[in-house]
Amino acid sequence: MKLPIGRRDALLLELREKLFGAELVGVVNCPECGERLQVSQNAVDLQSASDDATDVETVRIDDYTVHFSCARQ
Ligand SMILES: [Zn+2]
Repeated sequence: MKLPIGRRDALLLELREKLFGAELVGVVNCPECGERLQVSQNAVDLQSASDDATDVETVRIDDYTVHFSCARQ
């Protein structure tokens, strides 16, 4: 079966959500000081973004800039 990458990722996300729930929790360590940072994201929000990505949004927090696409509601 051949699928576009975005569709494949959406199906993987959907599977993950059914198995483990909608909350996605990630943990990273700061490369400078080693402090642990926990981030969480709702899988449903990512799902809608991957289905119909149109605009690129930018969020800037301290020295970090994050670009992401989201679907207009
Ligand atoms: Zn740090």
